[in-house]
Amino acid sequence: MTTRIDGNEIADSVKSNVESCVETLGKDGVKPGLATVLMSEDSASETYVSMKQQACEAVGIESYHYEIPANAPEETLLKRIKSLNSKPEIHGILVQMPVPDHVNEQAVLEQIDPIKDVDGFHPENVGRLTIGNPRFKPCTPHGVQKLLNAVNEETEGKDVAIVGRSDIVGKPMMNLLIQKAKTGNATVTVCHSRTENLAEKTRNADIVIAAVGVPELIDGSMLSSGTVVIDVGVNRVEADNEKGYELVGDVDFDSAKTKASAITPVPGGVGPLTISMLLYNTVKAASLQEGVPTEL
Ligand code: NDP
Repeated sequence: MTTRIDGNEIADSVKSNVESCVETLGKDGVKPGLATVLMSEDSASETYVSMKQQACEAVGIESYHYEIPANAPEETLLKRIKSLNSKPEIHGILVQMPVPDHVNEQAVLEQIDPIKDVDGFHPENVGRLTIGNPRFKPCTPHGVQKLLNAVNEETEGKDVAIVGRSDIVGKPMMNLLIQKAKTGNATVTVCHSRTENLAEKTRNADIVIAAVGVPELIDGSMLSSGTVVIDVGVNRVEADNEKGYELVGDVDFDSAKTKASAITPVPGGVGPLTISMLLYNTVKAASLQEGVPTEL
């Protein structure tokens, strides 16, 4: 029997925890606030930002939105972030990536006050995660950790293959899973485009986490029976429907599910958790900045 891991259900339980923390903060006169900044005309980025705003409103987080023309100079974005850093009602700042090519992404990430860096991408927060003292865990890998916990999948002592080594998913995922903690303590193999014999690495793993951006790269033949499969990938592929496309993961769901003991679908797996963990980080940021403890 393969368990289909329901990301929406798990995300809802995170959101209801966040909502009750928002209420607790409210009793002390604190309303968590998240600023989203969009410097792009990409329709997917617009959709992601609007989903994040709606999710904030649904749990009582104040959402502030700023748009910067895609052809504006880098300085315009940096100045906007600087001004958001100084606004006390804004506890979290999220700049939707990717930014246009003429903007230095690293400069943008470093401009965000680390205490408001709810994505967890500022070098200070990356460093804290690496030494096992995280302030904000990056949302997608944190969401994967929540999914694994929710289905009682222990990582301690397990072999995990992560396919992908990006700064936003693969590397922080590795850092979370190798922590000396009950939710870590895994032995992790991080694979990438230069990895040889990828299938050997995934077949040797108890848990496979795919964060590649290549549609259906991992199929059932690359898995051993009983593997837990977490598919982070979200890829648009052409389809004969009204939209002209559909979303598929980095895992070929149909063949993988014949081997997996548990597997996340796309959509409806990791994606909903990513947004929930952003809300979680925003409430944590408000709690830290206002000195009001919560039950997170
Ligand atoms: P990146 O493009 O930044 O990184 C992709 C990684 O995959 C790189 O490390 C790359 O290797 C590796 N890779 C590429 N091709 C292969 C291959 N054939 N074999 C093995 N490794 C390969 O992607 P992201 O980490 O940003 O995103 C990955 C996927 O996750 C995307 O589909 C994205 O849309 C999705 N995503 C989903 C989120 C969600 O909330 N569900 C959130 C964030 C991302 P190398 O380093 O050598 O180039």
